[in-house]
Formats: sequence, structure tokens, C-alpha cells
Amino acid sequence: MDDANGPSSRDGPERGEPPDRAAARRELVDALRERLDVSERTLSAIEAVPRHEFVPESHRSRAYADRPLPIGRDQTISAPHMVAVMTDLLDPDRGDRVLEVGTGCGYHAAVLAELVGGGNVYSAEYVPELAADARERLDRLGYDVTVRAGDGREAFRDEAPFDAASLTCAPSGGVPDPIVDQVRTGGRVVAPVEDGGLLGGGQRLVRLTVREDGVEREDHGGVRFVPMR
Ligand code: SAH
Repeated sequence: MDDANGPSSRDGPERGEPPDRAAARRELVDALRERLDVSERTLSAIEAVPRHEFVPESHRSRAYADRPLPIGRDQTISAPHMVAVMTDLLDPDRGDRVLEVGTGCGYHAAVLAELVGGGNVYSAEYVPELAADARERLDRLGYDVTVRAGDGREAFRDEAPFDAASLTCAPSGGVPDPIVDQVRTGGRVVAPVEDGGLLGGGQRLVRLTVREDGVEREDHGGVRFVPMR
């Protein structure tokens, strides 16, 4: 996706992009670079995706603020820093096949597609209307992402094994086995999970690396995501 700056970028809100949006996005990425320890590769992917296309009209003016925004049906688009951190932990190579559970508006899927290339992102969304909207939007923006409506535990079993899986909804009781089973040995899963702590309701961001004899788990701090259904 190009950051068009020429006259063609003034064709209208849906075609091309006014220069101030590209500038706002660059500013956001500069702020993320200051704050986070993430790779330039990840930041370039964030800079390439027109986040304003993924948020409802009524919230467009805030598309490049580093915060989650409502996308309807009680769901949200994740904050840019969270997408950056999760993407960086997943660190997919070009050509890797990635499973995403929780398409939402499709923003994170687009960021992943920037990194792995077209045809390699498989994203499942439980709410059929969100899946349909995300599919239409990703298609219109030129992202070759396969979106299916359904439960992410099983929606793409026919496409397994994956090199990596990214969950953007929080399962209770750890990453479900069916998802881990669909990731190849050496592959990774990044997910928010209920931490089962004393106070309850807390979530931790974890990265699992699938080994022949089990999974290795790293903790990457407290997070807050919608529950996985
Ligand atoms: N990836 C999105 C954020 C999505 S929010 C972004 O780019 O901003 C999490 C999404 O997970 C919600 O849309 C919710 O409907 C979906 N979800 C919840 N449980 C699910 C399940 N079992 N399978 C697939 N999607 C699920």
C-alpha cells in the first residue's frame, strides 16, 4: 500500500488518501518506535496499513491515536501498540502461513498480511456480520486474506499446519489445544489468556513456542481483550 501524496490522493475519502492521514500514521509510528521495543519491520507494516479504513466513520478522526476503538457489536479494534507488540512477538517470516482467531474489523490481519504476503493469512471471526464486513474491506483494500465466519478453534483445520497463530480474543484456561495442534513444531502462538490469578479477571499476553515434547511459554505482561467464545 502506497502513501500517496500526489493529487491522486485527493480523489475522495474512499479512494486514495489525503496526505494528512499518511502524516498522522507516520507520527503514530514514530511514537510507537520511541515507546516500544519492536522491530522496524513490524513498524513498517503498521505504517503501511490505512487504519482509518478499519474504524467506523464516526471514529475516523481518532484512527491514528494509540487507542482501541469500538467497531460495533460490542467489539473493538485493538490499539496500535498492542497490534505492534503482538505482531513483533509472532515475528512471522515472509511466506509463513498465519492463523488469526478474531478477525474483528480485519486490521491486525492486514498488518500480518503486510509481513507474510498475500494468501498466507487465514482469519476466523465468530460474528458472521463482522466476518463479512472484514472480508469486503480487506478485499477492497487489496489484502489477500482468507476470512471465515466461525469458531477459530476449528474454522481452518483443513488449512493446518500453520507456522504461527495469533489470538485477539482471550480464551479461559489457556490457549485451546485444538489451536496449538494446528501449529507446526517450532511455530509460535501469541495470545491473551486468563491468568487465573487471585483477583480473577486478569489476562496475560503469552507467547507459546511449540516443541516436540510440549510448549514453551513466555509471559509478556498484563493485557485486556474480549473473551473468546
Ligand atoms: N483483530 C482485531 C481485534 C478483534 S477483537 C483487530 O484487528 O483489531 C476480537 C474478536 O474475536 C471479536 O470480533 C470477537 O467476535 C472474536 N471472537 C471471539 N471468540 C471467537 C472465536 N471463538 N472464534 C473466532 N473469533 C472469535
